[in-house]
Amino acid sequence: MTIRNQQIFFETDTSVSVFLKREDEIHPFISGNKFRKLKYNLLQVDADGQDTILTFGGAFSNHIAATAFAGKEAGLKTIGIIRGEELEHTSDENPTLRFATSCGMKLHFVTRDIYRQKQEVSFLDNLKKKFGDFYLLPEGGTNALAVKGCAEMLNQADSHFDFICCAVGTGGTISGIINSALPHQKILGFPALKGDFLKDEIRIFATNENWDLIGGYHFGGYGKVDETLVSFLNGFSQKNKVLLDPIYTGKMVFGVRDMIQNGYFPEGSKILLIHTGGLQGIEGMNISLQHRKLPIINTHV
Ligand SMILES: *Cc1c(COP(=O)(O)O)cnc(C)c1O
Repeated sequence: MTIRNQQIFFETDTSVSVFLKREDEIHPFISGNKFRKLKYNLLQVDADGQDTILTFGGAFSNHIAATAFAGKEAGLKTIGIIRGEELEHTSDENPTLRFATSCGMKLHFVTRDIYRQKQEVSFLDNLKKKFGDFYLLPEGGTNALAVKGCAEMLNQADSHFDFICCAVGTGGTISGIINSALPHQKILGFPALKGDFLKDEIRIFATNENWDLIGGYHFGGYGKVDETLVSFLNGFSQKNKVLLDPIYTGKMVFGVRDMIQNGYFPEGSKILLIHTGGLQGIEGMNISLQHRKLPIINTHV
């Protein structure tokens, strides 16, 4: 499976060269890093003789959508524990949840308080009583097998890049990239959420030290989007003929452009950006932008 690196351009000339690894093209429905994260987990489900996957996510979760579709393709039952009890009644208005349901995923809505117990044994035991035995995929799909899958994003042809940049949610993806990058490469992660717990999460899986997190480009927190970001995304997609998702990759690319302008990268640097996919989330985001009477994200490039 070869994923292309597409050269990208910003509005003004830069003294660095920038390429985008089009992981978003890996599969039409199991997008980007979620495909990588599911790969070895699906093999493990099979090896364990399980027929059901249970996992967790928010209402617009790329992971929920990806798991639902992958489960359908593999002939597995899927259960999604969804954060936010109030969503139960409006789930057919939410494109992500509608898609998951159409793939046969059974959705189970819980309050934010209960959702927080998602790693507790007693909570998981209750879920087993309710749904029967299952293969547990943590939130965001991150576990050791997911990290192993994400390590396959980089290949030999990427060894000349000086910097590799990706968005960070739970940290599984960047951990895989860190583990397969070369010592001379610097991996920069752009958290999509506030908080400083992520470094510890990444250290659970990452085996090298040549990485850093760049805070300050989350636009106020997870899932938060404003006019500046939308305008950036639309300018970018027009110029480069590629869509970026507003929650992860879009914020990372915005950050990289800002850092280029601020002279962070030495002249001549070769920078590889990882497009982790997530384009299914644009539709739901546009509905919410319309409610807020803000410009929406162009989906035609
Ligand atoms: C889930 C997701 C991420 C974050 O990946 P983690 O492994 O959780 O850090 C980044 N980009 C997109 C598009 C995603 O869907």
